[in-house]
Amino acid sequence: MENINVAVLGATGAVGQKFVALLQHPPYFRVRELVASSRSAGRSYRDAVTWVQNTPIPESVAAMDVKSIEEPLDSPILFSGLDSSIAGAVEERYAQAGHVVISNSKNHRMDADVPLVIPEINADHLALIERQPYAGALVTNPNCSTIFLAMALAPLHQAFGIDAVQVSTLQAISGAGYPGLSATDINGNVIPHISGEEEKLETETLKILGVIDGDKIAPAEMRISAQCTRVPVIDGHTETLSVKLQSHATIGDVRNALEAFRGFPQEAGLPSAPRQPLWVFDDPSRPQPARDLWVDGGMATLIGRLRPCPVFDLRMVLLGHNTIRGAAGAAILNAEALVAKDYVTSDGLLRRSEAVQGREPAEAGAGL
Ligand code: NAP
Repeated sequence: MENINVAVLGATGAVGQKFVALLQHPPYFRVRELVASSRSAGRSYRDAVTWVQNTPIPESVAAMDVKSIEEPLDSPILFSGLDSSIAGAVEERYAQAGHVVISNSKNHRMDADVPLVIPEINADHLALIERQPYAGALVTNPNCSTIFLAMALAPLHQAFGIDAVQVSTLQAISGAGYPGLSATDINGNVIPHISGEEEKLETETLKILGVIDGDKIAPAEMRISAQCTRVPVIDGHTETLSVKLQSHATIGDVRNALEAFRGFPQEAGLPSAPRQPLWVFDDPSRPQPARDLWVDGGMATLIGRLRPCPVFDLRMVLLGHNTIRGAAGAAILNAEALVAKDYVTSDGLLRRSEAVQGREPAEAGAGL
């Protein structure tokens, strides 16, 4: 298959840079346009970005001019790492103009007709795009901490049922974007509040683990209590959780369910899929952000300290790479799933079922 041309919205940010770094590797997608704010637009990407990745800026994009969000785009697929203050309206406008928009932002995640997808768990929710009023489509991936929580809960929900979850997060600095928090605020410190984060863990998880019921998602029924903190770690969100199951399971049963978990990306052999979505460590000092983040290219969810809980049934520690599996890598995997499920053609265009035929691209921003 030819590589599909894509644009990265918010290309200068923490997530946008990760898109650019990951998308330099074929197959499937090729970065053809970069978009950011008026501060960056009109400059070459090399000049506009403060590149903070561990690999050099790909030569294929370094000299590319950054576009503004007002400009029409030619690429059929748009990966969005836009700031949430503007992402909602901009992503909707591009979807109306006929683009397939894959968003990292919170704005549309809980919309009834927008799929909130982790393809190992709910690739079938992509069918919601058939109900959207756009000439294109809008697909979202979850909040970064929510992804790792939902990944660990999904096999337990399937095998044993879940009654209640108590989760606390220790989230990395890069989760606040670039440049993020000042060194004065975060060095040697723990910040015990991240605006809106606890609500996202408590609501998005239920939508992801929910099932399609007619024209909507019926959310999973379980109680989730979340507390979120920011800690002085560059990359990698750690979470500690306790889980109360609906039916009895030994720690061995739970471990088997976690390690055996596979989903659509593994069955379909998607290029960005981790070979094993959930890794369970025996060493009680692992997983650690400084040592273990790159398992399966940063796409795996890492689990340690799996043991009984004297209050609930079991407890564990999770770790995941917040800008890869928690953001850019998650969105790329969703786009790969759209192609593999034939919602998107090998030209990157939305394949129209009868339900979406006849929707004409809105004029504003239409560049397809
Ligand atoms: P960031 O580093 O602050 O980057 C924001 C991007 O949005 C930059 O490219 C910026 O361009 C652009 N932007 C800001 N205001 C704009 C405007 N008015 N018009 C056009 N472009 C504008 O943020 P981030 O951490 O990458 O996060 C991006 C999105 O992903 C957010 O919605 C965030 O909640 C979500 N997310 C982040 C993470 C993470 O770990 N960081 C994880 C999951 C989801 P300029 O450089 O030109 O200002």
